[in-house]
Amino acid sequence: MKFETLAIHKGNLITDKNKPVVQPITLSTTFEHGNEGGVLYTRANNPNRMALEELISVLEKGEDAAAFSSGNAAGTAVFQALEPGSHIVAPDDMYHGLHNSMTILFKGIHEVSFVDMSDLEKVKSAIRPNTRLIWVETPSNPLLKVTDIRAISALAKAQQAILVCDNTFATPVFQNPILLGADIVMHSSTKYFGGHSDILGGALVTKKRDAFWEKVRTVQKVGGAVPAPLDCYLLTRSIRTLAYRMKGHAEHAMILAEFLLSHPRVERVYYPGLKSHPGHQIAAGQMSGFGGIVSFTVKGDASTAEKVVSKLHLFANATSLGGVESLIERRAAVEGPDTKTPQNLLRVSVGLEHTDDLLKDMNQALG
Ligand SMILES: *Cc1c(COP(=O)(O)O)cnc(C)c1O
Repeated sequence: MKFETLAIHKGNLITDKNKPVVQPITLSTTFEHGNEGGVLYTRANNPNRMALEELISVLEKGEDAAAFSSGNAAGTAVFQALEPGSHIVAPDDMYHGLHNSMTILFKGIHEVSFVDMSDLEKVKSAIRPNTRLIWVETPSNPLLKVTDIRAISALAKAQQAILVCDNTFATPVFQNPILLGADIVMHSSTKYFGGHSDILGGALVTKKRDAFWEKVRTVQKVGGAVPAPLDCYLLTRSIRTLAYRMKGHAEHAMILAEFLLSHPRVERVYYPGLKSHPGHQIAAGQMSGFGGIVSFTVKGDASTAEKVVSKLHLFANATSLGGVESLIERRAAVEGPDTKTPQNLLRVSVGLEHTDDLLKDMNQALG
């Protein structure tokens, strides 16, 4: 079956004798011993989380998935499952929350090298005898840099290191890292999976139920950073429409990117769907669509960029991404003083409003 069909029919565990069409929310924290589903206690398992995990694993073409209370908890679970003393190769523009997890929480536990993942020679020379994990995020945040997942996978295999891909920006609608050679896929379900800016969540999907995955499952159950049944229910419901939302986001992002490209007040546009984007060819070879995030620099400095943001009516000045409503923010302001992001760069999460309205608003704000 195709993605759209699976998204609607998988992850719907109906046991009620009244045969509801939609799986109910099971809020009970505990379950009678000896029940048919083998459900014990909600931190270890519950019917709504089982449904969500089944749905995400099917859509990402994996053997199993584990849901977490946030994307950061999901990523951190991978670092927790690694043997202490492991070396990690990670992107120099890694999502800052997970960069912080590695450098703050795992300081003195793991070693990490941050490299430009779009430069294969740099990745190769960063690998050490104790490299156990290679982390990629593509397209990346906020410059939409593209990493060649197949090429990095070959390097990881040669080193017997695990390859994890943060697939939050692409979603399984446009990119299946497992089919491209990744061992584990990570998601912040807070973004496109949730899609309505009202749920915090994360997930990991594994290619194989191997020994490392067992450790991840132990971290999930024992560490306990798990989502509540209501959040699992909301996520399952949102994922039913993921394919259609992503098609809309990508179509609107392309229209906005082309509009910005031709605007005299715009300096540079970053969108992997544009032929001028340095990662366009690789993106076209591993993605079936280019996603809904567009970054651009305005001619001028930080205050010029902030002026544009303040004049917008339809694009809320807020962090995060992946919701139906358009958001914009000056990333350097959020990333802090040691950011490498250009000060005049604005990142847009292009929403599902009509593009006529979005372009009209952007045009008046650019002035
Ligand atoms: C938001 C995000 C995360 C972290 O997810 P949270 O749900 O905020 O914890 C990780 N990676 C990427 C690419 C993200 O956008």
